[in-house]
Amino acid sequence: MRLCTTCKQMKTIRQQLIALLEHNPMDAREISQELRISEKEVYEHLSHIDRSVKALKKKLRVKPFRCMACDYIFRDRKRLTQPGRCPKCKHERIDAALFSIV
Ligand SMILES: [Zn+2]
Repeated sequence: MRLCTTCKQMKTIRQQLIALLEHNPMDAREISQELRISEKEVYEHLSHIDRSVKALKKKLRVKPFRCMACDYIFRDRKRLTQPGRCPKCKHERIDAALFSIV
């Protein structure tokens, strides 16, 4: 099977992302700056990585988003993307989730 340039690039980015997160926890903004991709792409890669690291017997660990106003923790959030606002106090300042691979 031949991979197109985009796929090759994607693969490399994912490998880089896994390597980064194995060394230190990072939030989506830090990852996007480090890998020079948009935060939206970061979340897309993360959702794929979640599955691929399972094969390596590793886990994508997420330190959940937290409301900066009332300390509400988004514990049960299934999606990795940043929530728009707090369901409890409706505040929009949400502390970023930290991703790591363990
Ligand atoms: Zn809140």
